[in-house]
Amino acid sequence: MKRDKALIKRWLDKRKQASLYRRAKVSSTPQQPKMVIDGTEVLSFCSNDYLGLANHPKVIDAFTEASHRYGVGSGASHLVNGHSVEHELLEQELAEMTGRESVLLFSTGYMANIGVVSALMGRGDVVFQDRLNHASLIDASLLSGAKLVRYPHNDMMSLEDKLTAHAKENTMLLVDGVFSMDGDVADISALAKLSQKYQAWLMVDDAHGFGVLGKHGAGLVQASGASEADVPLLMATLGKAVGVSGAFVAGSAEIIDYLKQTARTWIYSTAMPSALAAASRASLKLIQQEPWRRDKLFELIAQFKEGASQRGFNLLPSDTAIQPVLQGDSKQAIKVSERLLQRGIMVTAIRPPTVPKGTDRLRITLSTLHEKKDIDILLNSLEACL
Ligand SMILES: *Cc1c(COP(=O)(O)O)cnc(C)c1O
Repeated sequence: MKRDKALIKRWLDKRKQASLYRRAKVSSTPQQPKMVIDGTEVLSFCSNDYLGLANHPKVIDAFTEASHRYGVGSGASHLVNGHSVEHELLEQELAEMTGRESVLLFSTGYMANIGVVSALMGRGDVVFQDRLNHASLIDASLLSGAKLVRYPHNDMMSLEDKLTAHAKENTMLLVDGVFSMDGDVADISALAKLSQKYQAWLMVDDAHGFGVLGKHGAGLVQASGASEADVPLLMATLGKAVGVSGAFVAGSAEIIDYLKQTARTWIYSTAMPSALAAASRASLKLIQQEPWRRDKLFELIAQFKEGASQRGFNLLPSDTAIQPVLQGDSKQAIKVSERLLQRGIMVTAIRPPTVPKGTDRLRITLSTLHEKKDIDILLNSLEACL
């Protein structure tokens, strides 16, 4: 059937009726708990800026100084002449922080995932993924042309069964470190064991763990004690806890060298602006030198979880800054989200296809910049609106 104007209109109408229609709200403030969104002042629990660095004066200064020094645009891809001293130093500092030999920067996490998976996997190969993996990981394996095999969330027995059936092929285990919509974590050591037993690549996307978990904020992989041999491909983003934009892949010097020759989303795309690299470097310093940011965040998480369980909210087993409250269906999730907004509290309703049908939820994210009283306000408002 031709996807003509009438069909598109019908599709949009249906989407609206099913409470699945989406639209971007417009903010006129930086990322911080108190924001102005669509002209209204709100207390926000939606940002992935977990450590409050997106609007930090030192990060802004680094960005400003570097933009005066290097200008705004990077002008070309990394391989042509877009790779500056700032990119080079950021790669070295990320390698040091993650305990890996080498690092490659990408402009976004989505591009990093597509670039790496397509470089290593292709037709005839098999990629195994957790049911709850991020969309960019699913798309990465689809685009690579490899067969996609999904297993139930965190079910290592089922994964092993599926691995046995493909033991002879070129295989990869691809997983979120911290699951982006659930907040729970992957079992990195079990995955590392399976990947070694079945000689499969293991790639961990630590978008929500990097900066927040592990010693000095090096992430879930570091916290779980996994070495470079255990997790040969470690990916994380610079747009969440780091508070900037971009992403990186860390691994052995050889694998990173291979990616420089083969990862098309790196080769054929303009390098991120140097000022973003400089801002990321300033942010990494704060992440490592100010552990109080993580300590305070985890105090707020504990406060929220305790208050939520006292009130009988339907939480998922998450110990991270991502705290979903399950709603069951999209209409209910939207209704609660709208009621909260009327009280000046912003929490996004997350609906299919981002999460499986019937697991619609309010996705609450906490930040170091929230105060204890903000959590009380959130808990009391949820109680009134659920
Ligand atoms: C946000 C996210 C990405 C995408 O990163 P961007 O830099 O925003 O493109 C990839 N993986 C996971 C798990 C994420 O949460």
